[in-house]
Amino acid sequence: MLGGCLPNGGVVKYNDIFDNEEVIGKSTIIKIGTIRIVASMDADHEYHFLVMTIAHRNNYFELTDAERSDYALAEKVIAGFYKMHGIDGYSKIELVGEEAGRTIPHWHVHFVPGKSDNFHNNPKERPLHRSSEELHTFAKSLSPEFENITKGSGQIA
Ligand SMILES: [Zn+2]
Repeated sequence: MLGGCLPNGGVVKYNDIFDNEEVIGKSTIIKIGTIRIVASMDADHEYHFLVMTIAHRNNYFELTDAERSDYALAEKVIAGFYKMHGIDGYSKIELVGEEAGRTIPHWHVHFVPGKSDNFHNNPKERPLHRSSEELHTFAKSLSPEFENITKGSGQIA
């Protein structure tokens, strides 16, 4: 699933959809510098978001200083969004490595409203409510609000 060796000694490329702008761009709500906020396909909660670097990073410790700084701003924007929607608490979930159940090598953090038991680790348990077209429409519908919150944060030029 995550690639491997071919009989001729070559290596199968990771099928990393988060590196494919044509795919991930459709779910992207907003880009904040080097970071993007994405509407999750896993509609266990309609405001389940993913935060990830635009560039490929495998793990948090590979992030540049600029990426860490933009990530902090992205969280601030999501927290602001949740607050405006009456959501006071949220969970951040990062699966590190295949053993933890991560299926896509690209570093990303899940943001789920409320307690983390809303989050289903096993992809088979995740309710997939959104087709890619629905996801695209939903992400675009949230973009103006996220743009406004971003501007209101006063920290982004
Ligand atoms: Zn990647």
